[in-house]
Amino acid sequence: MLRRDIEGRGVRDARVLEAMASVPREAFVEPDHARQAYADRPLPIGMGQTISQPYVVAWMAEALELTATDRVLEIGTGSGYAAAVLSLLCEEVYTVERHAYLAAGAGERLAALGYGNVRVRHGDGAGGWPGRGPYDAIVAAAASPRIPDSLLEQLRVGGRLVMPVGSAGARQQLVRKRRGADGVTEEGLGVVRFVPLVTGDG
Ligand code: SAH
Repeated sequence: MLRRDIEGRGVRDARVLEAMASVPREAFVEPDHARQAYADRPLPIGMGQTISQPYVVAWMAEALELTATDRVLEIGTGSGYAAAVLSLLCEEVYTVERHAYLAAGAGERLAALGYGNVRVRHGDGAGGWPGRGPYDAIVAAAASPRIPDSLLEQLRVGGRLVMPVGSAGARQQLVRKRRGADGVTEEGLGVVRFVPLVTGDG
């Protein structure tokens, strides 16, 4: 999968490829789906949610341009798989998940597998995780028609934010924002399809 689906589709960052090779995806899917864990596609994880496609996890990790001292905020912990990959590329990962069941499962799984630099919080991640910011990088694994201001406010100067922008059920654009000393720039990276970012009461 690594060579065909991830390197083959253009992910080149050696640290990202190494992290993808090291995280056991089968430990993040339900036992019924373990045999498909290395197919390059999303799989159900309960609560109507999915573990992201490995290629997309690698692509987003590369787009974040992480260094070993970075502190990263992730919105949409899901299974914890992407958080595990990110944790190998930076100093600390703070990840927020709105489903209590998924947050608890991911926290237990990450601890059991020894990913000690990941903090999982149950809550609405559209507001970020203010007490721990600002962050060097912010990534959302759920799509929204626009990027919440509160997330951008938690991005430090020099920081990168990567998030799918668009409506639920439609093709979305993966967008990268950079906060420079003079303001925020934006680029489109390509087309993706994510579950929606659900905020407030839905
Ligand atoms: N990164 C995950 C993929 C998760 S899918 C993995 O590797 O498994 C996206 C997740 O975002 C879902 O679990 C969904 O419940 C969560 N989500 C949606 N809206 C959210 C919000 N406002 N705050 C936090 N999590 C949210």
